[in-house]
Amino acid sequence: SAVAAIKAKGELVMLTNAAFPPFEYLGDDQQPAGVDIDVAQAIADELGVELKVVDMEFDGIVPALMAGKGDIGAAGMTVTEERLESVDFSTKYATSSQYMIVKKDSDIATKDDLKGKKIGVQQGTTGDIYATDEDGENGVEAEEVLRYSNAMGAAMALMSDKIDVVIVDELPAKSIVAENDSLKMIDEKLTTEQYAIAVKKDSDLTAEINKVLDKLIADGTIDELILKHTTE
Ligand code: GLN
Repeated sequence: SAVAAIKAKGELVMLTNAAFPPFEYLGDDQQPAGVDIDVAQAIADELGVELKVVDMEFDGIVPALMAGKGDIGAAGMTVTEERLESVDFSTKYATSSQYMIVKKDSDIATKDDLKGKKIGVQQGTTGDIYATDEDGENGVEAEEVLRYSNAMGAAMALMSDKIDVVIVDELPAKSIVAENDSLKMIDEKLTTEQYAIAVKKDSDLTAEINKVLDKLIADGTIDELILKHTTE
């Protein structure tokens, strides 16, 4: 069993992309910190093992899990039908939406204005999927979707006018806007999403994770962690 193997090696390996505050970011000591790291630590504690955090590209997390290069993917990861074909998900522990970030003087005010625009996203995220709009159901019709390795990279491109808008999850969007005076968030939810921890399919680890998560959700710890890592 996966749980027995983790206990035997004495280590829970968490795959993440530490550029997604408050869920994961690099702290002052350049070590990954955030809600997901604290949750993974609680899971490791429950199993009686050490936590090892591996920082990687977001779109590499699911393939790496499938290849057995880690035990859990905890990265503000939205549960999607497509990902469910490759991995299992834990209990959902947070709700989010995609939002638009623009320069304060932008002519983009609603999602209808995305037509003909250059949209920046983080590669392989639900923001990427929304902007790319493969089946046309979002009516985006962008001129181009430019993919960056993290949302901050997309925001830098926005500040230097290489793109017109960034589409990214709510709390990272708030964090980016809070740190960059020339940017604002548009108050329109583009999607409704829920975050969960990804696990290799049919693993006995999922039930262990859910046991810990159910408690952290019920006693308000998740909400507290979001607040703590937002104000830090
Ligand atoms: N929630 C988004 C997704 O799952 C973005 C996650 C991230 O960039 N860490 O695709």
